[in-house]
Amino acid sequence: KKNIAVMTSGGDSPGMNAVVRAVVRTAIHLGCNAYCVYEGYRGLVIGRDEEKQVDYIRQMGWEDVRGYLSLGGTLIGTARCKEFFERDGRLRAARNMVVNGIDALIICGGDGSLTGADRFRAEWPSLLEELVSKGDLTKEQVAPFQHLNIVGLVGSIDNDLSGTDATIGAYSALARICEMVDYIEATASSHSRAFVIEVMGRHCGWLALMGAVATGADFLFIPEKPREDNWKEEMCQVIKTGKRKTIVIIAEGALDRHGNKITPTMVKDLLADGNGLGLDTRITTLGHVQRGGTAVAYDRMLGTLQGVEAVKAVLEATPETETCFIAITENKITRKPLMAAVKETQEVAKLIDAQRFNEAMALRDTE
Ligand code: ATP
Repeated sequence: KKNIAVMTSGGDSPGMNAVVRAVVRTAIHLGCNAYCVYEGYRGLVIGRDEEKQVDYIRQMGWEDVRGYLSLGGTLIGTARCKEFFERDGRLRAARNMVVNGIDALIICGGDGSLTGADRFRAEWPSLLEELVSKGDLTKEQVAPFQHLNIVGLVGSIDNDLSGTDATIGAYSALARICEMVDYIEATASSHSRAFVIEVMGRHCGWLALMGAVATGADFLFIPEKPREDNWKEEMCQVIKTGKRKTIVIIAEGALDRHGNKITPTMVKDLLADGNGLGLDTRITTLGHVQRGGTAVAYDRMLGTLQGVEAVKAVLEATPETETCFIAITENKITRKPLMAAVKETQEVAKLIDAQRFNEAMALRDTE
């Protein structure tokens, strides 16, 4: 009987709970034992805190995940864990896996978490060897755990992994952004004000771009499209004075073509004073409301379907197969090699169709 564990890692995202529920129940349905690792890699490294009498790796029953589907965040916790970057931390994690009898791991997180997972899997045989040579575990103890099967699920609000159409949580964050911009618009049009709205996205502008398209924003800044030197003139030309409302969306990682940051304050100052626009301008930083709240239907569906597939993938994986992640491409749930997608993400920003983007942005209000 396989013992399959599920873990959430990195930034939380709506839909992670759907993943946990789907993995736990599918594992049980397929005759396996299901476990959760609480608090991401930190929980895996600690295993059990004797002082607090807390087990971070816990077996889960069918009813333990009741109600998970509709809740936001991740109920099993997540963390960033410095120790897991070090071999010593991964050694402790491997020991805890063996001691708890875990032979397969499903991880839902961003590209960092999934890279860590691939590294852990690649090192697995040498980690076991070291644990035996140090006397931490016996040969007999490690014998049933010669291979570690790991499968990744991409949980991130940024929609920032190549090779999948959507990451789990991205559509919930987008829905929240639209809702918030709608609220702000009511005030903007009542007072003829301009609003500069900062949304999340340090490296990936998907949320800002789709948010701008979905709310009919006037101007947009994203990291993938560094602004030319004349961005100030360009923006002032687009945003005429006297409009009922003006909405500018700016991703956290907005840049000019020299790599300098473009900040909401710079944009606000320009709208307020520059070139005679003189607009009554306010800045709103949406911050963590974008991550929070319940998952939209799409993320519940994605987390569930991908969670089911992840259990099947982890059961079918062999030592020869590459570490895979579960993607959605053209509406189909598929398995794809993980590290190729991570590499592609780092080399080329997720593709943005510039022409479509310009056509959609041209639909802005003119008065
Ligand atoms: P987000 O999209 O929210 O940034 P992420 O999964 O990319 O999510 P990271 O902070 O990059 O978030 O990674 C989460 C954790 O995964 C790290 O704290 C660390 O424990 C582990 N991790 C990340 N990269 C590696 C790596 N190269 N080697 C080992 N562990 C890693």
